[in-house]
Amino acid sequence: MNLISAVDAAIPAEPFICRHLIAGEWRDSASGETYDRMSPAHGCLVSRAALGAEADAEAAIVAAREAFDSGVWSRISGKERATILLRVADLIEGNVERMALLETLESGKPISQSRAEVSGAADLWRYAASLARTMHGDSHNTLGPDMLGVVVKDPIGVVSMITPWNFPFWILSQKLPFALAAGCTTVIKPSELTPSTTVMLGELLFEAGMPAGVVNIVLGYGPAVGGLMSTHEAVDMVTFTGSTAVGKAISAAASSTLKKVALELGGKNPQVVFPDADIESAADAITFGVYFNTGQCCNSSSRIIVHEDIVDEVVERVVELSKRVAFGDPLDPRTQVGAIISVQHQGKIDDYVRAAVTEGAEIALGGGPMTVPGLEGQFYQPTVVRGVSPEMAIAREEVFGPVLSVLTFRTMDEAVALTNDASYGLSAGVWSENVHTCLEFSTRAHAGTVWTNTWMDGFPELSFGGVKQSGQGREIGRYGLEEFFEIKTLVMRIGRTRE
Ligand code: NAD
Repeated sequence: MNLISAVDAAIPAEPFICRHLIAGEWRDSASGETYDRMSPAHGCLVSRAALGAEADAEAAIVAAREAFDSGVWSRISGKERATILLRVADLIEGNVERMALLETLESGKPISQSRAEVSGAADLWRYAASLARTMHGDSHNTLGPDMLGVVVKDPIGVVSMITPWNFPFWILSQKLPFALAAGCTTVIKPSELTPSTTVMLGELLFEAGMPAGVVNIVLGYGPAVGGLMSTHEAVDMVTFTGSTAVGKAISAAASSTLKKVALELGGKNPQVVFPDADIESAADAITFGVYFNTGQCCNSSSRIIVHEDIVDEVVERVVELSKRVAFGDPLDPRTQVGAIISVQHQGKIDDYVRAAVTEGAEIALGGGPMTVPGLEGQFYQPTVVRGVSPEMAIAREEVFGPVLSVLTFRTMDEAVALTNDASYGLSAGVWSENVHTCLEFSTRAHAGTVWTNTWMDGFPELSFGGVKQSGQGREIGRYGLEEFFEIKTLVMRIGRTRE
């Protein structure tokens, strides 16, 4: 393992101050309370945020409702919306360094990945701007000689957005520009662990000329703020990204007012390697897929299902590549694996590994927490566990750390059965040089995305989301925009036929 520690940016001496954004004003909490966010890698104070509660959420929801009903955003042209979204994209690009630094300090992710996340998100804003000008409904002139039917797409209304800590800025950008393109107004609650980049975006929205009240931000803990955002009558839709357990709670809470719910939840995503695969490329993608974002990723390929004839070769190569992973200070631009979000989460990762060993699995690499000299935070060794059987928790549940489980198969039917034997269905991957093998696997896998001979490539044009307990609804792409519409049918009699 490469331990590295040359930092690329200085840690700010003062914490970044985060306030709620409500009706175009930066506000302290009604209670006046704040909380501090410490860096999971460096142990230092990063940000101080307003600690929101129901009163703050209520004020933000009222502001979003008033802004929506006023038509200041919902009734302007697509061209005007697109102009502002494009300005936001430019401003994000101009602030990549500032935003990436806070993202890394709050989450512990490698700075190179924060930079890619922020600059990549700018492209989501650009793409959403293009949709703001090209979305349309449809018309029907074959209903009868004097009838015309028109289906229009109205913005759904006020949208609550609740986001997690693992890709705070990217996930917000999978939702917000698309909702804005559709003409919606919003209330956002970022994870309590990573409030800063959402607040920074609020500053950029001001600069871009976003009307007051269209985007509101409330900071604080889940139930205290997100509870009202899921139940309030004035909210028309909740879009949530986070754990399956909280997604279910939000869905249940939202049912009291029958508001629309879109959910992006966890995954237990396999890469399946057939015997004719290009093993070098597969091993490379497996290594990337399990360690990207320190394994704290909904799309982590935390299990691989390998044909038994090649399992030794694949594991050997993955272990070799894993040993070369650059591990250490997230502020070093060479770092590929950073810190674990909290001590409790580090303990949970280790529990999965220990339980698998007790049940007969074998550690091929790593297998425990580790320290990085000079850093106070928590880290976990890149870990490969082989001899994993399908009933073990490590094979079925989201570990959310740099831990790979290796399972084996003999036939296509077995590979598909193992893939689909999961409560999740976010993504899957297939490695083979035979197009028929790839197509058969892709069509039989229960997953929102199936990658062939690659892993985790994504594009703003292609929608993303899960099946089964990985979620409902889609984000980004054209289908991501559609989530924020209400379909309205206009039926018209043409001419004065009733004289
Ligand atoms: P989490 O579910 O703990 O929290 C997510 C958000 O929900 C936070 O803002 C939190 O404050 C809020 N929250 C918590 N309880 C709430 C409640 N009762 N009502 C309303 N809001 C509440 O998830 P996390 O630990 O922040 O993120 C990790 C999870 O997110 C993983 O399961 C991961 O797979 C998932 N995730 C999914 C995707 C995807 O696109 N499918 C992307 C990223 C992360």
